Formats: sequence, structure tokens, C-alpha cells
Amino acid sequence: MIRLNDILDQVSQYNPEADLDLIKKAYVFSAKAHQGQTRRSGEPYLVHPVAVASILADMKMDISSIVAAILHDTVEDTVATLEEIEQLFGAEVRKLVDGVTKLGKIKFSSNVEKQAENFRKMVLAMAQDIRVILIKLADRLHNMRTLEFMTEEKQVEISKETQEIYAPIANRLGIQEMKVELEDLAFKYLNPEMYKGIASQIEKRKAELQSYIDEVKDLVSKKLQEHHLPGEVSGRLKHYYSIHRKMEHQNITLDEVHDIIAFRIIVDDLSQCYAILGLIHSLWRPIPGRFKDYIAMPKANNYQSLHTTVVASKGERVEFQIRTREMDEIAERGIAAHWKYKEKGAIESKDETKFKWIRQLLEWQRDLNEPAEFMDTVKLDLFTDDIYVFTPNGELRELPQGGTPVDFAYDIHTDVGHSCVGARVNGRIVPLRYQLHSGDAVEIMTQKNGRPNKDWLKFVVTSRAKAKIRQYIRQEERDTACTIGRQLLEKECERYGVSISKLLKSTEVSQYMQEINTKDIDGIYVAIGYGKMMPLDLISRFLPKEAVEAVEKKEAKEHVPTTIGRFVSKIRGKSSRGLVKVNGISDVLITFGKCCNAVPGDAIVGFVTRGRGISVHTIDCPKILASDSARTVPLEWDTSSGLTRNARIKVICVDRPGLLSSMSEAITDQGVNIKEASARAMDDKKAINIFEVEVRDTAQLRHVMNALEKIKGVIQVERVRS
Ligand code: MN
Repeated sequence: MIRLNDILDQVSQYNPEADLDLIKKAYVFSAKAHQGQTRRSGEPYLVHPVAVASILADMKMDISSIVAAILHDTVEDTVATLEEIEQLFGAEVRKLVDGVTKLGKIKFSSNVEKQAENFRKMVLAMAQDIRVILIKLADRLHNMRTLEFMTEEKQVEISKETQEIYAPIANRLGIQEMKVELEDLAFKYLNPEMYKGIASQIEKRKAELQSYIDEVKDLVSKKLQEHHLPGEVSGRLKHYYSIHRKMEHQNITLDEVHDIIAFRIIVDDLSQCYAILGLIHSLWRPIPGRFKDYIAMPKANNYQSLHTTVVASKGERVEFQIRTREMDEIAERGIAAHWKYKEKGAIESKDETKFKWIRQLLEWQRDLNEPAEFMDTVKLDLFTDDIYVFTPNGELRELPQGGTPVDFAYDIHTDVGHSCVGARVNGRIVPLRYQLHSGDAVEIMTQKNGRPNKDWLKFVVTSRAKAKIRQYIRQEERDTACTIGRQLLEKECERYGVSISKLLKSTEVSQYMQEINTKDIDGIYVAIGYGKMMPLDLISRFLPKEAVEAVEKKEAKEHVPTTIGRFVSKIRGKSSRGLVKVNGISDVLITFGKCCNAVPGDAIVGFVTRGRGISVHTIDCPKILASDSARTVPLEWDTSSGLTRNARIKVICVDRPGLLSSMSEAITDQGVNIKEASARAMDDKKAINIFEVEVRDTAQLRHVMNALEKIKGVIQVERVRS
């Protein structure tokens, strides 16, 4: 149990000039107010506010915060009033106690609307005085530490709230120590079996792990000394929650989680950080992709450190974090480390700008009417580190890490997102899946008839973009299903000699509509289009069995292919997308340049047009050679598409009757359609014929040309590009 003297000792250590009498006075006041009250653990209630004050003293908070922490439950739970508190402890303490009391009344329910409203209040409180949130976090931490005395139902409820709201806030404020402890405690109650499983396994290996920590610590310390690099090495087991997340994320067992120990090296100045990093990398092989320089690129919550994972002597993975004392201080205490306890009131303005996201949240919540949308934005913001990019007008936009031009487009407007076909970053064309960096200037190219692509879902990171793309695709698929369904039903009705309008008005069909829970006919078409039912299922409800059988018998005699088979081949033939892949993505909006008229098999390149998607050209097309190379993108054919292209062939032959028909025959013999043919006689008894043919690829085109060359009377065959 923590006593008053412990807190006085703590405070006077980091703040020798502190007015300890005020803390003593608060203690006496709180003890009196809470007299006779006990906690569920059976301890006197006073234990709680004192423990909360101690957590804040650990964070080296100012006297007002410590005093307010000791008093934080008096107004809510006792007869004490805010006026009394102001009289005895001043207006500042009153304001803090008031803020914590109000915040305490907020219950974060699962109801989205309410949650959003509550969150808004929390943000407001933060913007007024962030110390209110720090006291609330300390309060929550102590409650989580003593959660075992609550009912199971309460444990789950409080833990959920902690995981969803408080831990992310602690993270956003950079209070790492508190964040991991909150997460760990919440994990313990939300997933007790998993927690116990990890705990017991770690317990079993404790001695082994400890000796391993000592071994590495000694080795690294010795190496540091050899190289005259002063640094303090420490190693610790990772928290159970982060181990659990690793297991979940990589789908592995605890034995397979190699880096359950994290080593930290604390140094005096910045240059030593990099020197030590170099030393570590010379000792052991670093794992590619695991080195993170948060010193050059601090996290949004101001966290700074170097991280690297190496393969150590026995082949095991070991993680090192290297940072200065000052960075360590900020990593552990976050915003609290910026607190100048000697000054009263607000944080230094320099630090304030670092936390301007709090104010930004306030602005957003004014713009977002949908509560769910607000929560979405806020949660995303709390859980990820952000990047900042610019619109062409120089307007700043915030996106989560990994944000792409598509996320950016949807952030601007849904329509911009839907119709985006390309992007330029800092003046250069980039693929839509390109990951933006802070400081990038992003320009979105749109096309009037553009539409979202399913593949975008693989790379977008904002929930907004995801939701909008899914919504569009769902609607589009539904529309297609509806059209297909209607046509299928029409054909099938025709086949069985049933009037479709009569069928749809029948009681059988309205009964079926009730069964599938739809109010309009479209619902039926969609069900057919999605293949949930066959048109015949519907018709056979309406038509007597004998009538259906009679039609089938008749068809069997005549070998009529089924409607569905015919229909499917028809829609396949119509499709015109997916012939070309851009960076592995098919279904891109493309047009073919009339200048070179590329056919699958030709080496091609794309040119990003203004507003007409990507135009496809052969690499030797004179037009592409003359154009801005910064706007070209590599392309490849999507050979799986099964689609065709039209190519033009010029045939010079002797002008003789009957030759045109034998040329046509030669072409169709190759299984190739002629889309258009023209012939023109010249003065010298020769004729020029132009055939436009539908081919799969250049190979098929070559076969056609070879066949033409073999015809007697043909003089020259060549492919015409334009
Ligand atoms: Mn409390």
C-alpha cells in the first residue's frame, strides 16, 4: 500500500521546491471525505486516490495534478463540493477535479452514436487541459490493477473500454509504459485462457530466459566498452499482449515467437545511437525490413528511437532499441515528459503544436455528421501513425501510414475516389497502389466514367476508402446480377411459352418473394443473377409439371443448347475490360491509341492521359516516342483475359474476280472474324484490300497473314498500324 510519505518523497525528489503542505492538506481532506468508505477489496477507499496520485508522481507531474488526483473522487462520491475545493486548493485544482468528475460520468457504450458523443466530450476535455486526461488515465490504470475484485461482467466491460479507448489515448499521448500496462491488463480479462497460457509457459522458461538476457547484456556491454561507446544495456521480456499479438498476427505458437525479449541501449547523445547501431549490425546480421529510424522520422506521438532486429549467435532473433536518455524519457512518459512542473497552466507552445491533433479532432467532429463515420476517423487516428500530404492547392491532408493515392482521392470526395484513374506525386506519375510519404504533393487524375476497382481493396488503408469501394462494387454487382437475372428469366419464359408479365403477377411468385424477403421484382432478378435460384425453379411453380417435361422432351430431340450456356457465352464476348495489366492490376481504364493499334503480343507501354485513363501504345509508336516520358507507365498484357483486339491487314493483290472471297475464306478458316473489309482497284490492274480482323494475339494475326500470302494472286500482305 502506498502512503502519503511515499508520494511526498517522490515529489520532492523531482521538484524540491514543491509545496508539500498542499499535498498533505489534500490528503487530510480526502481522508475525511472518504471516511468509512471501502473499496471492493475491503481496503479503505483512500488507498485508491493515493495510488492514483502516486502514478502521476511517477510521471513527475505538477503539484496541481497530484493534489487533484488525491481529490478526484471526492466530489462524485462524497459530500464535498467544488466550491470547497476551490476555497482550499485554488481554481486550477478545482478545474482539474471538475474535469475528471465529468469525464468519469462518460460511459463508453457499444452504441456507436453514444460512443461518438462521449468521445467528443473526451476530446473537448483534452483540448481544455490535457492533465484531466492524464489523471483519468492514472485512475483507470489503478482500477485495472485492482480489477480482480469486480464481477466478471464488470471486468469485461471495463477492460473493453480500456482496450478501445484508454490504451489508444495513452499511446497517442506517447505514454508507452501506461499504454502497454493497460493493454496487458485488458488482455488478461478479455482473453483469460490465452493470457494464462502465455503466462504459464513464460513462467516455466523464466530461468532460461533470464540467463539469456544476462548473457546478451554482458556481451553487448563488453563490446560497447571495447569500442569506447558508453551505453546502458537492459533486456526485458515483452508484454504478454504484444507476444499474443505476434502469435495471432503470424499464426504461430509461443515457441515460435523468437523475439520475446527486447533489448534497450540508452546512450548520452544522438551520434552514439548510430555508432552503436553500426556496431550491433557488425556483430550480427540485421533482418532486412526490420530496421526503423524513428529518430529521423519520429512517430506521431513524438516517439524517437532506433529499432533493429538481428540474427544472434544461435540463430535466434533479437530486437534492439537504441535511444538517448531524453528520448527514453519521452518514450516512457510521453506528453507528461513535456510537462514543466514549475510553470503553472498550459504546456509550452513548442510542445503544444506537437499535440495539435487534439484540436484537429475537434474540427473534424464538426464536419462529420455521421457518428459512425466520426468514430471511424477518430479510431483510425488513434491507432495509427499518420502521414501528411498536400493537395495541388497546398492544402494539408492527413492519412494513416501506408495511405495510397486512392485513399487520398476518397479523402477528398467519394466521387473523386470513384472516378480516379491515376495519380501524380510530386509531379511524377505513380501507380495507384503507391504508398505516400509525408510531404508528398498528390494530384489525382480522374475520368468521367471511371469506376472503382476491386483490386483497390488490396491496398487501400483507410476505412473510408474501403467502405466506399465495397459499397460501389456491391451495388454494381447487384445491378449486373439484376440485368443477367432478368434476361435469363425472359429467355426461359420464352422457352417454356410462358408470359413473363403473367408469371410475375402470379400468386406463386409473390409467395416466393415473401420467402426471399423482397418487395420488388428486382429482388427476384438478383436472386437469379447471383445463381441463388434457377429461372426454371420459378417457372415450375407456375407451370404444371407435364408442360415443363413436354418442352424438355421436345428439346432433347432437337439438341437445343440450354439457354444459360448460350447466354454465358454471349456476355463473355461482350466484355471489354481486363486486357492490360498495370503493375499487376488488370481491369484498369484503358484506351488503345489509334496511332499504333496494339494487339496482345506487341510490346506495349502506357501513357497516362488527362481524363481518359491510360492509353496503350506499342513501344515503337512514334507518338509515344515523342511524348513526355514522365507520364508513361509500364504495361503488360493480361493473357488470362481471353479478350480479343481488332487488327488491320493490308493486302495488295491482282485485281481479279473471286479473289476477295478466297481471301475472306482464308481468314475465317483460321477461326478469325472479319469485322470490316474494303477493296479498292488501282490503275495498274492491282487492288488494295483492307481487312479488319478480330484476333487473340499477334501469333494468330501472323497465321492469318501467312494464310493470305499463300493465296495465288496475292502480292503483298502487311499489318497496318493506323
Ligand atoms: Mn477513481
